[in-house]
Amino acid sequence: MSEEVKLSKDEHRKFNSRQLRGNIAEELKNDADHFEEDADKLLKFHGTYMQDDRDDRKAKNADGTKKGKSYIMMVRTRVPGGALTADQFLAELDLCEKYGNGTLRVTTRQGLQLHGVLKKNVKAAIKGINDTMLTTLAACGDVNRNVMACPAPVHDAVHQEIQALAFRLAQNFKPKTTGYYEIWLRDEHGQETNVTEFQPVEEPIYGDRYLPRKFKMAITLPEDNCVNVYANDFGLIMIREGDNILGYNVVVGGSMGRTPSAAKTFPAVAKPLCFVTPEQVIPVAEAVVKVQRDFGNREDRKVARMKYLVANWGIEKFRAKVEEYCGFSLTESKPVEVTDVDDHMGWHEQGNGKWFLGVNVECGRIKDEGELRVKSGLRKIVAKYRMPVRLTPLQGVLLCDIEESQRADIEAILAEHGVTPADHLTPVRRYSIACPAFPTCGLSITESERIMPHLIDQIEIELAKHGLLKEKMSIHMTGCPNGCARPYTPDIGFVGKSVGKYTIFLGGNVVGSRIGFIYKPPVFEEAVPQEDVVPVLAPLFAYYKAERRPGESFGDFCHRKGPEDINGRAQATMAGAAS
Ligand code: SF4
Repeated sequence: MSEEVKLSKDEHRKFNSRQLRGNIAEELKNDADHFEEDADKLLKFHGTYMQDDRDDRKAKNADGTKKGKSYIMMVRTRVPGGALTADQFLAELDLCEKYGNGTLRVTTRQGLQLHGVLKKNVKAAIKGINDTMLTTLAACGDVNRNVMACPAPVHDAVHQEIQALAFRLAQNFKPKTTGYYEIWLRDEHGQETNVTEFQPVEEPIYGDRYLPRKFKMAITLPEDNCVNVYANDFGLIMIREGDNILGYNVVVGGSMGRTPSAAKTFPAVAKPLCFVTPEQVIPVAEAVVKVQRDFGNREDRKVARMKYLVANWGIEKFRAKVEEYCGFSLTESKPVEVTDVDDHMGWHEQGNGKWFLGVNVECGRIKDEGELRVKSGLRKIVAKYRMPVRLTPLQGVLLCDIEESQRADIEAILAEHGVTPADHLTPVRRYSIACPAFPTCGLSITESERIMPHLIDQIEIELAKHGLLKEKMSIHMTGCPNGCARPYTPDIGFVGKSVGKYTIFLGGNVVGSRIGFIYKPPVFEEAVPQEDVVPVLAPLFAYYKAERRPGESFGDFCHRKGPEDINGRAQATMAGAAS
């Protein structure tokens, strides 16, 4: 540690955990339906944590007494670059049915989540994931989490290297502790974990307290920032001449989360740090992580993300410290602009005579519901053709390596299962994401995933009135300010403020390069009831239609006009309606 500090409780917990073991193995053996707090906090490093069914909280027993919490676990698989084999994808579908609630969720960081796993089944679920050569280790916790990378399976040097680099970074920053394997991968006939046997291994990157907070990495292309590189602690923007990869611009200190009760917290987009050659990527990434490890705040978790260190020091001091840790001088960033995002939906040639198909999955939830049976449709196709699968940061699924002769059959299977082809969907639906919130997230204040499709229905109606349905527009929604679905940077962000109410952010953009401002319609200000969210946006769509510049996006329009003009407009519209 750099100086004497009063460490938070979590820091002591990590230090005393015997490299992330804690009491997890012991608690797995008891009959309790939940873990105790210490074990639960450490479980995050293993890719799982405890939740409870929020819909069930008010449930009563037959005798009228309160039923108490219905504990469930979320189990997250780390999937660098979102790349899965057919067997891995099918195994996850099986596991969600066997141990979860029958749905499999594609996360906004290209991972997979099982929800509703009972404590008694969590070991079998994690073992099942590892049996397919996937892991849940470091999917959550104060370590580097899933490394994001453009998932498009294009057969050129650029896309292949982006995927390979995501995998190398993921391997490099994986915790070295053997605790994960001891706890989850020994079956009941194997050698039992014995705490007296504990032999520490070296954690050369994380040390004995791991990081102060979670850490996120992503790699992007300037013309396709589908990973939203600016929302990451450490981002790489590829610089190339044709297929010749020159290196990467490094951006640091992005993070979406904030705590409304703590004014000192804020969302931030990552700032330019330097340019690195391909050989310098890992050394510089390690230096950045170690600077955060040694100087990040370990007293107050609310301000422990690296963005606060960057903000407190300023980027110059941060850069100087990274240089000191690297042992070489850093080069200035190259003048490259990040310009667009591709959701990779629909049919695309891969460049090797084959095709890939992007399938939109609303809010990332792979399930069968009514006429829409995405889960069964995807299962049938992947089981039949055994193709690799990739997960997109906008929570979609790419079916890869498809022969021309297979296309018609695949389209027919999807149609049979009620799946709408992506080119029949509006951009606003395709570029929208939502966090899970109710009923599984313990932090959620209000709904997100469950209401997002209905809000998009209403927004589509409003956009259609002004002939704006074809405009690319990103809308992200979260059930609390924690920001898991990156709600502060899109064209429109909805952030849960209180039950049934949302703060609306405007003026971001589809590439996520700036933080939006709060839209304050009269009466509601920062807490707009769910039923009023679309009505208060509707006049702005008309304003946008009337005064936009050629090709200007809704987010760019709001940004150009600014909060004073946009909020003033809302006031005037309201006054006009009242008179
Ligand atoms: Fe839960 Fe909040 Fe994250 Fe949504 S943004 S998943 S409500 S913590």
